[in-house]
Amino acid sequence: MGLDKTTILIVEDEPAIVELLTFSFQAASWDVCAVDTVARAWEFLQNRTPDLILLDWMLPDQTGLHLLSRIRADRHFKKLPVIMLTAKNMEEDKIAGLDNGADDYVSKPFSPRELSARIKALLRRKSPEHTENCMAADAVVLDPNNGSVTVSNQKIEIGHAEFKLLKFFLAHPERVFSRSQLLDKVWGDHAVIEERTVDVHVLRLRKALGEADYLIKTVRSMGYMLSTKQSSNHRDDA
Ligand code: CA
Repeated sequence: MGLDKTTILIVEDEPAIVELLTFSFQAASWDVCAVDTVARAWEFLQNRTPDLILLDWMLPDQTGLHLLSRIRADRHFKKLPVIMLTAKNMEEDKIAGLDNGADDYVSKPFSPRELSARIKALLRRKSPEHTENCMAADAVVLDPNNGSVTVSNQKIEIGHAEFKLLKFFLAHPERVFSRSQLLDKVWGDHAVIEERTVDVHVLRLRKALGEADYLIKTVRSMGYMLSTKQSSNHRDDA
């Protein structure tokens, strides 16, 4: 299911560019999905939330700018990283794009290598869980580079989904997330997994953390959070 893979949605109608981008993104181990119209992009977004959208300006049905406005107006996609692509380096387009909420802007022709670098930079900026630095809370340390987790310097056994969940929590400490938010942010594909699955993975994560299980708190009727605080309000043995 590609749980830890970064998904890039390419919205572009020129097959040669899609091919070039797909090739270079797959080399960066990203999952690539491509659609060629605004309508298909919107359809895609109803089923999956990519980590980043690469959005062409000129599309056959509507402009990329139109899709961008729609994305930014939607509560679910407000913060979705978007890089606009355009054929001409037009300053006015650039301003319009940035005004409408594009995070970055790349003019054609572009170097795929440079574009990949810009994507990486944007992902790091927008999603702390894409960091390559070690993340920690109390005795727990997660190293994204080798996929290891230690508790009090002891390496623990942790499943793939639990690793991803822990990474997300460590990137957003002291914040409550609902089950559906966790599904969306951690699994990124809300069509496939049920909300109950989140509970199962949280239980497994706590088990894996052993003595540090207190970090993952159940917040009644809201969801879960990672907190180093010993507040009894957030403790729940359910
Ligand atoms: Ca185009």
